[in-house]
Parts: sequence; C-alpha cells; structure tokens
Amino acid sequence: MEKTLDIIPVSEWGFFTLPRPMVIAGPCSAESEEQVLETARGLASWGIHMFRAGIWKPRTHPGCFEGVGVAGLKWLKKVKEETGMAVCTEVANEKHVYECLKYGVDMLWIGARTTANPFLMQEIADALQDTDVPVLVKNPINPDLELWIGALERLNQAGIKKLGVIHRGFSTTNSKPYRNAPGWQLAIELRARFPELPFFADPSHMGGSRKYLQELSQRAMDLGLEGLMIESHCNPDVALSDAKQQLTPTDLRTLIESLIIREKDSVDQDYREGIEQLRAQIDILDENLLNTLGSRMDVSQKIGTYKRDHNVAILQMARWDEIMDEMKKNARVHGLSEKFIEAVFNAIHEESVRIQNEVLAGGPQA
Ligand code: PEP
Ligand code: MN
Repeated sequence: MEKTLDIIPVSEWGFFTLPRPMVIAGPCSAESEEQVLETARGLASWGIHMFRAGIWKPRTHPGCFEGVGVAGLKWLKKVKEETGMAVCTEVANEKHVYECLKYGVDMLWIGARTTANPFLMQEIADALQDTDVPVLVKNPINPDLELWIGALERLNQAGIKKLGVIHRGFSTTNSKPYRNAPGWQLAIELRARFPELPFFADPSHMGGSRKYLQELSQRAMDLGLEGLMIESHCNPDVALSDAKQQLTPTDLRTLIESLIIREKDSVDQDYREGIEQLRAQIDILDENLLNTLGSRMDVSQKIGTYKRDHNVAILQMARWDEIMDEMKKNARVHGLSEKFIEAVFNAIHEESVRIQNEVLAGGPQA
C-alpha cells in the first residue's frame, strides 16, 4: 500500500501568503552582521516574509568558507527583530537543530547532502521530536526519489507535520548548461504522490548562474509549484560562497515581478492552468527525448568509426531485426502500439545508418 504523509497545509504555517510564488530569499551564507542585515532590509522593503542564510555550509573542498556558525544565529535574531521577517537556515546534524531551537529560528531546511544520509536524517528527526518547527527537505544530490521520500517519512514519524520540499536539481555527469540537472520529472512524480506537500524550487542551485534564474523560476511556476527559494546578497560579486548565482534584493524583485503566474479563479482559468501544467510537462519530456536521441546518435558515430577501422560492413540486418523484435515486445509493456514503435525505430535506424555512412565517406568522426 502506498504510504501517505500527515501534513499541515502551508497556509496554516503563518509565514507564507498567496498569490504564488511564496518566496524564501537571502544569502547563500551569512558572512557578517552588516551583510546579513543589509540584505535583509533590502528584501523586507518589497515584501519578502521569509529570510534564508546558511550558517553551517557543507563545502566540497576543505579550506573553502564553511560558514560562521552560531554567531550567525544572533544576526538572524536581529533580522527578525528589525524587519519582522521570519528566518530559516540549514541544519545537518542534531547539534545544529538544538542551536537553532535555542535562537528561535522559525523554519529549517535540510541540505541535499544531508537528505541523502539516513543516519543524519534520523538524528535530526529525533532532535526535532515534538517541536512545531516547519522543515523543508531538499532533494538528495542524486536523483533518488525514494531517498527523498524516506527523509520526509523520518521527519513525519517524529511528529513534524509542517513539512515541505525544495527541488534544487541533481548532480549528474551531464547537467549542462546548469550547475545541477533540473530533472523536473522527479519533482512531478513526487508532486503526484504527495499533492499536499508544499513545493519550492531552488533555481539558484539548479542554475548555478544568474543568467538561468529567470527561465528556471518561470518553469517552476508553470509546473504549478508553490514557491521559490532564491539566493540574494547585497553585494553578490564579493560573496564568500556561490557568488555567480546570487542576485541583489532589487534584481530579485525585478525577477519575481516578471514571472507570469497563472492562478485559478474560474472554471475557465482552471482549465487553462491545467493545460499549461501539462504542456510544461510535455516540454520537459520532449527535451529529454532530444537529449537521448542526441546521445544515441553520438554512439552511432562511434560505432561507425569502429566498424570502419575494423573493416566491417555498416548494415547488419540480423542485429537490427533483433533490436526491433525486442522493442516491439517492450512497446506493449509501456502501453505503446507496435506500429508506432516500428515507425519511430525505423526512423532512428535510418538516421544511424546515414551517420555511419558519413563516417565511412570520411565525414564527421567520433
Ligand atoms: C544552500 O541552500 O545554500 C545549499 C547548500 O544548498 P544544497 O543543499 O541544495 O546544495
Ligand atoms: Mn548556496
């Protein structure tokens, strides 16, 4: 039986208001009291209600800036007092949780490297037992939906009902042009399994560069996600971490105000929002198809070179008949008609043979 999560709706958490997007913004890292407060003032001035800042930073290499630690919690407290914003930070172990509870941090998030570690997730869940602090769980760095769900289940079993997720993309061998591959289809699957979970996207860590923030944020909205977590720094170019992906509070405002949000308010609007979301899903699937076809043709080219170097003929009908039989069998499993699959794979085969012939004729080679 499919498991469910016991969730308190995000509208009852007291921080976020509609219309979409609900925005969490602030620097990658708290660096100094001045930097934290100046950024917070800039964000509060145009209506941000939830401030983020990393205090303990999980860094790939030792020797990079690893966060200011507990000192930063005092600055977050000042942000609350001065601006009225709620504040959140990342926790990666029980000690972080206890410190945050002591300093009145309003919301916590779990970083991608921590979500992937069931021991740490259990430790954090135990430390949060019977508290009322909302927790947002980022996806694990690898595209493993079950690991992501497992982390949510551990928190939920510890009584955390103000639960949500942040989609920040996945670390894969090819995530170009982004820092992390968006892998939106996993987000869509999670959304379909737990529609009650508030869903944020993190275009900053997905994109890794200011230039991708707009398109990724728009896509998150087109998929119907509730919110965005975006990094903002009063002086991004000199940020001690993630300098390339942070926006000034003013630039963030411009971005948020430029987003096209399709909300539902009538039967007709309902339909339009539904169709837009489905189209956004189709766009992602089509992009994946193109990627896969590109990779397949790269391999065809390599095979062409290999056959040429070993003096082997290009067209090997027996091998192709075998592939086609297998595909037709699999087609049924996926609910696809044999006729359709035959047409698609004949086209693929034709192109593959053409590429290999090109290699033979001295054209592009792998
Ligand atoms: C962050 O939000 O600053 C962060 C470290 O993110 P992630 O865990 O997604 O890498
Ligand atoms: Mn960051």
